[in-house]
Amino acid sequence: MNKKTIFIVLVLFVIQLLIAACASSANPPQAAESSAVETAAPAESESEESVAIEEATEDTTEEEPQATEEAEEEIIADESSPACMTQLEAMLNEEGESNIPDDAPEDLDEEYILVTYQVSGDEISAPKNESDIPEELIPYQQDAARHKELWEFYTKLIPAERRTIIGEFVIFSDGAYNVIGAVDEASTPGKWTLEMDAIDSLDVGMLSTTLVHEFAHMLTLDDTQIDDTASTCADYQTIDGCSKKDSYINDFYNAFWADIYDEWSATVMPGGEVNEDEVVNFYDKYPDQFVSDYAPTGPEEDIAESWIYFVFSEKPAGDTIAEQKILFFYNYPELVSLRQYTLNGICKYTE
Ligand SMILES: [Zn+2]
Repeated sequence: MNKKTIFIVLVLFVIQLLIAACASSANPPQAAESSAVETAAPAESESEESVAIEEATEDTTEEEPQATEEAEEEIIADESSPACMTQLEAMLNEEGESNIPDDAPEDLDEEYILVTYQVSGDEISAPKNESDIPEELIPYQQDAARHKELWEFYTKLIPAERRTIIGEFVIFSDGAYNVIGAVDEASTPGKWTLEMDAIDSLDVGMLSTTLVHEFAHMLTLDDTQIDDTASTCADYQTIDGCSKKDSYINDFYNAFWADIYDEWSATVMPGGEVNEDEVVNFYDKYPDQFVSDYAPTGPEEDIAESWIYFVFSEKPAGDTIAEQKILFFYNYPELVSLRQYTLNGICKYTE
């Protein structure tokens, strides 16, 4: 096994990329590129975004007994619904606004696991708190109500049958604006852990895109897609094992990476980590091929980043390879349905 932790180290600017994508949805990658650096300003402390989550959490709790008709109505609100996309854009386009406190810890010396929850269906267990964490993280560890809101938010973005692989939900932190979230192998074989930074998740834009990004890893690297026991691999060898012939990531690789993989491989250091400076150079050479500057970290990250744009942007024209990567997912009706589910889930929080 030895499944690697797959981190998303996108920091704030990814959200700004997404905002740029939403703002000019016909051409997300180019818009993203131009706004990458200057929009990575520290966020201000405002309260609207998490209020949105709290309200929505209350709403859904209250709505559950009434069930069907209203829920079905929400599910059929499709991507052509301008109201839905406008609400989404408005939520994500709160430029500079965030609930991350100005005095939130940043740049901690390492990642600290704060709390572990066992996942069972829609529910999470009682918290299991870690000891020996920095004092400044204790308030974030103790906010179990907030953790429950985060989990409930996730359940509104991803349908239950797509969440059965998640065995654990972990709240961690390495301080604000560093690693935002991750997926990893759980202690139960065949299960995954979904991890969210307690501080970064206070920014609902960062939270939404990160949850969607991490979901894409599970979508493309779970046991239906990857054989991690194969001793040889005739198709794309992912960081988690050999991709199956008809898997999403193998199709993605063949469509977009086969020609550049050897050149990209030079960015990988002997230990298997990519050299970030080399990735930047690679991105600078092929900016039209990637939806963000994090995408060229490798095919696994590229497909997850492209998935973010697939979910949150309107359907692009396909003029660039980056746009074609977004269009890639439209080849799969089940993924188009998933996109719609996630959009509807998020749109509920913008109402
Ligand atoms: Zn990732």
